[in-house]
Amino acid sequence: MDTNTAGLDVLAIAAHPDDVEQTCGGTLLRMAEAGYRTGIVDLTAGEMGTRGSPEVRMQEAAQAARILRASLRENMRFPDARLENTMAGRMTLAAKVRELRPRTVILPYWEARHPDHYQASGMGFEACFLAGLRKFDQYTEPHRPYKVIYASQYANVVPSFVVDVTGQFERRMESLLAYRSQYGAVEAGSELFPDEAEIRERLAAIARYFGNLIGAKYGEAFVVKECMRVDDVCSLPVRTF
Ligand SMILES: [Zn+2]
Repeated sequence: MDTNTAGLDVLAIAAHPDDVEQTCGGTLLRMAEAGYRTGIVDLTAGEMGTRGSPEVRMQEAAQAARILRASLRENMRFPDARLENTMAGRMTLAAKVRELRPRTVILPYWEARHPDHYQASGMGFEACFLAGLRKFDQYTEPHRPYKVIYASQYANVVPSFVVDVTGQFERRMESLLAYRSQYGAVEAGSELFPDEAEIRERLAAIARYFGNLIGAKYGEAFVVKECMRVDDVCSLPVRTF
């Protein structure tokens, strides 16, 4: 019965394969390099996308996960482009959270232009809550993540904290470019899809901006709903002058 007591240290939940690579891939990689067990759960396979089939995209996602040194990557195959935070969906995701037992969960920021992104955020949050209810399902152990953090790279908000991903930035870029069907030089939808040079420049500019906020080269931004606690004001990083 007790088959997965260890659990993941960090689990990133996102709407589409390649979301994690754009928003928190450097942080996942940095945690894996530090010896933590990390995982990714994508809610949809991106089957409504202009380019590439879901099968191809999922192969690319597996390759990207290897580059980010994630211990596992799974796809819930919820419907893409019309992701809904339904009771059935929440329950399925909650069962996954119970199985993977993450300590920290990374969700997309709760406001976004793409409806799938904010739906994924609400669904992830509620699934993490449900997963902690003993009576949710009598056959599996309850598990509630200790901490939920929100990847806010694309949100117009002041981050609660920024992770220095200077040492991980190139590999994170490599993980995103593993989605050859999305970012390669393909004809379909080329007016909609940036080429590699453009995507490199854009991601570097965003990461550089957040890195600059903490005195690092590249950073990834996060928001937490709780206050950040400090025990030692003499060891606070990021200089004032
Ligand atoms: Zn997305």
